[in-house]
Amino acid sequence: MKQLRAIVVVIVLANAAVLLWLLARQPSEPGAARPADLSDVLEPLVDDATMSAARYDLSDRKDELSIVLISMDALRYDRTGFSGNTDGLTPNLDQLAEESVVFHNAISAASWTLPSHMSMWTARWPSIHRVTNKLTLLGADKMSETTLSAGIETFPNLLAQQGWTAVGFTGGAGVQGKYGFGRGFASYLDDRPFAGMDYSSPAALEWLQAHKDDGQFFLFLHGYDAHGQYALPESQIQGLSYEGALNGSTEEQAELREKGLQAIAKPGDDASLSGILDDADAHFLEAVYNKKVRDADQRLGAFLGELRRLGLLERTIVMVVSDHGDEFMEHGHIDHGHSLYQEQLHTVMLMRFPGYARRQDVQGVVRTVDLFPTLFDVLGLPEPASIDGTSLLPLLQGDESSRQAFAETDYRLFVHRRAIRDDQYKLVLDLQDGERRLYDLSVDPLEQTDISSEQPRRTYEMEQALRGWMGTHGTNPQDYLGMRQKPIEIF
Ligand SMILES: [Zn+2]
Repeated sequence: MKQLRAIVVVIVLANAAVLLWLLARQPSEPGAARPADLSDVLEPLVDDATMSAARYDLSDRKDELSIVLISMDALRYDRTGFSGNTDGLTPNLDQLAEESVVFHNAISAASWTLPSHMSMWTARWPSIHRVTNKLTLLGADKMSETTLSAGIETFPNLLAQQGWTAVGFTGGAGVQGKYGFGRGFASYLDDRPFAGMDYSSPAALEWLQAHKDDGQFFLFLHGYDAHGQYALPESQIQGLSYEGALNGSTEEQAELREKGLQAIAKPGDDASLSGILDDADAHFLEAVYNKKVRDADQRLGAFLGELRRLGLLERTIVMVVSDHGDEFMEHGHIDHGHSLYQEQLHTVMLMRFPGYARRQDVQGVVRTVDLFPTLFDVLGLPEPASIDGTSLLPLLQGDESSRQAFAETDYRLFVHRRAIRDDQYKLVLDLQDGERRLYDLSVDPLEQTDISSEQPRRTYEMEQALRGWMGTHGTNPQDYLGMRQKPIEIF
């Protein structure tokens, strides 16, 4: 047996040597066909377990790699081609997915821009980083602008401290530098509220062209292209077949959003436009959204094309996320932030690693708070103490243990909700009236049927887990029962 193993090892090594020799002989001029990385060649020769353990370990290249993080605001997972959607809305994102680790069940920590991005930035739950609203209630009627506590570290700032030049090109509004996002950044574009990548991406490319050879960088690109507050040109709206009263403008979107929130008559009620919008109206708004998704994808494609053309993809880790989705009356309202259903929490999350640029599908539940801890693990960088996110690197290397995801919203003080999900079930708890709803996502992915009364034991267990989680960060559910506050005007 030992002899046989020795023979196999010799054959594998001999093969590897021949391939290395062939590689070394290949002409190295640009355009010559050669494998992107040695690992592409060696992988079939080395035993699976050994290769899996080493896969995505880029720690020995950490001094040469740059990082690009692209946040496509309000992009629903179910609009992407890799989700199984056949409308062809995201060909460029789908192409990137072919070279990336694709997380099919990535869950955001919050259902709207500000807390969601801050949870990514800090790998902490919203209740911990406390950037849960743009204003913070100080007293009965007194509010101050929220900013991240100096005691909480952000991952981009850590990257900046370790030598990466951090630059941000964003659509402003909920990701403005003043909330704490800009910490450690050499420059941070956020001056145009609800701007799309048509604004932020050209600025990012201009910076890249000027500085791409100046050393390692962390570049954050963000756009509101798919968001309700980003305007689709009227000519495109007119091309849609619809005979109702809506016009698809951003002003109308804001008006409807507020109207639905005003429908909250008592603590714990749902925001609702039932009786105001019919099915045709909802389909129209969704068609407007889909067109915006298509435009967002084209801008993403143009940006990625430039990265490729500049030769940056071979030395850059590219991550694409969305911060939340958007609702089109699946639960009686539009927009996002007011609830924690899947259309709002299920996000896009991809990571493309140079040297390992091929598709890997991850079906297990992951959280967007895991994004930066994974990046740091891959690069072999030390992460801050006591964060909530955990590295997904073991998952990428074959570990199949499952994890729970949590989410929160205290959207403008209109609602206070918390959710927990595992691979199959999700429980949403309304803190203001104590009502809980349980969904079996394996048969009811759109969460249309509350099964809490049919499954009292599971409901109890998940609620206990959720309450235990809240307890670990000082949230006392009793404090919220019957609570009614003056809502925050800005969104
Ligand atoms: Zn957002």
